[in-house]
Amino acid sequence: MVLRLSQEGVRDARVLAALEAVPRHWLVPEALRSQAYRDNALPIGGGQTISAPSTVAAMSSALELAGREHVLEVGTGSGYQAAVLAKLAERVVSIERLPRLAAEARRALDRLGVTNVVVHLGDGSLGRPAEAPYDAIVITAGAPAVPEPLLDQLAPGGCLVAPIGPRGEQRLVRIRRGTDDRFTREVLGPCRFVDLVGRHGWAA
Ligand code: SAM
Repeated sequence: MVLRLSQEGVRDARVLAALEAVPRHWLVPEALRSQAYRDNALPIGGGQTISAPSTVAAMSSALELAGREHVLEVGTGSGYQAAVLAKLAERVVSIERLPRLAAEARRALDRLGVTNVVVHLGDGSLGRPAEAPYDAIVITAGAPAVPEPLLDQLAPGGCLVAPIGPRGEQRLVRIRRGTDDRFTREVLGPCRFVDLVGRHGWAA
């Protein structure tokens, strides 16, 4: 799978190594394990999905992590993106709104021996001010607009990556907060994610 991703243009060696080190079959429902190394999103229950490896690679690369960062992930889902981020940064705070998924992700991350990810249950569109600021923020569900509280919780010099736009046809956007506190925005390409549901997302 990792060889295929590198042939398809994933260039960041740290990201490829992180993907190689995370056994995705431990994070997908048992009935779908035989499909774990295909480059597809797969259902994980509750109408939610584990992201495709190429999507996790693209989002992880876009964050440009060097290894010492404090990262916020919104949308824990299966815990796959969090497990990859755990290899690329110092500490990951991940928020999931669905109790069953949060509990299963915690269990899966424990089983994988991941010790630098903490999973919280709640509305991640509000961020988690108690642990802010974050050097990097990734939203793994599609939002109509970038949630304002997350911009407030981004450290100067940090960046936020998120799928933004109408339901089912977002664009992957990267926002950098300069050390002068000015925000700049780039569109990285089209993407398709399930909804970010919450105060600063879509209505449930
Ligand atoms: N990162 C996940 C993975 O690697 O498996 C994939 C995430 S899935 C595409 C999107 C997740 O975002 C779902 O689990 C969904 O319940 C969660 N979600 C949606 N709105 C949320 C919110 N406001 N706060 C936290 N989680 C949210």
